[in-house]
Amino acid sequence: IKDSILTNVAFYDSKIRKQENEVREMEDEMEDALLNGEFVVYLQPKHNISTGAIIGAESLVRWNHPQKGLILPNKFIPLFENNGFIVKLDEYVWDETCKLMRKWMDKGGREIPVSVNVSRMHIYDSELCSKLLNITKKYNVRNELLELELTESIFIENTSVLFEIMNQIMNQGFRFSLDDFGTGYSSLSILKDVPISEIKLDREFFNEPGSRTDSKIIIKHIIEMSNALGITVVAEGVETKKISEELLEMGCSIAQGFYFSKPMPAKEFEKLLFH
Ligand code: C2E
Ligand code: CA
Ligand code: CA
Ligand code: CA
Repeated sequence: IKDSILTNVAFYDSKIRKQENEVREMEDEMEDALLNGEFVVYLQPKHNISTGAIIGAESLVRWNHPQKGLILPNKFIPLFENNGFIVKLDEYVWDETCKLMRKWMDKGGREIPVSVNVSRMHIYDSELCSKLLNITKKYNVRNELLELELTESIFIENTSVLFEIMNQIMNQGFRFSLDDFGTGYSSLSILKDVPISEIKLDREFFNEPGSRTDSKIIIKHIIEMSNALGITVVAEGVETKKISEELLEMGCSIAQGFYFSKPMPAKEFEKLLFH
């Protein structure tokens, strides 16, 4: 028994050490990776459920590592949120996104709204509004086309400061979208206090087998209420035809999910846009 415990301890020990090494490696490499263009923006289309048409997209970052290949954000975003590097990375993603929007307008005269993720570190940054304005000005993109996704968990604390910053940004025409809607506890009160343009229903709602009927009732009422308030509802993580049909019946007409499209490199997204 003693032996097997020791083997186990050694196993966990080596596992933790491996994770620590990974973290250290990523921290050593991140700055250069940004300069070398290893971070790439993928786009996942938002579709009109009934027509299938692309009506927007979300920018999702990937790390195209020269040795390790394509790394998904769940591997590095939490680390970058801890060490503060997310602030630089997000700004890079916003810049790349506006650059692409400019390109699509020049190429096909198409204005496609794109949403970007804004991490919690950013939202208390007093420079946030001017940073955003600089980027949209640089590429001559209408502010209305850049949608800012905030996860509802950031509304737990300091909300009055937050509302002030958001109002300042909204007065410049930028739109806010509430990400992972329904996963926190503050959802409804946020809608009362902040002029949000869009909510994104988290895929947990559709993939929870146990409380299917309860979930459905809740989703249905969220959709009804949002429609009445003039808030756009996007269903995220829609993986089946059945779910997309159910959503449509409940009054939700926009979906982002694997059933319609996966996140893809800009080149592929452009093929869909200009086919
Ligand atoms: P999120 O903002 O909730 O983004 C949606 C995630 O759901 C994406 O994962 C997307 O690939 C995934 N998804 C979309 N449709 C489906 C579906 O039908 N089924 C399933 N199973 N998944 C689906 P991704 O790209 O791996 O990103 C994960 C998270 O990383 C994002 O969640 C977001 O919180 C964060 N993230 C990604 N890019 C950025 C960024 O540039 N800045 C910041 N701050 N966070 C980012
Ligand atoms: Ca998002
Ligand atoms: Ca989400
Ligand atoms: Ca999520």
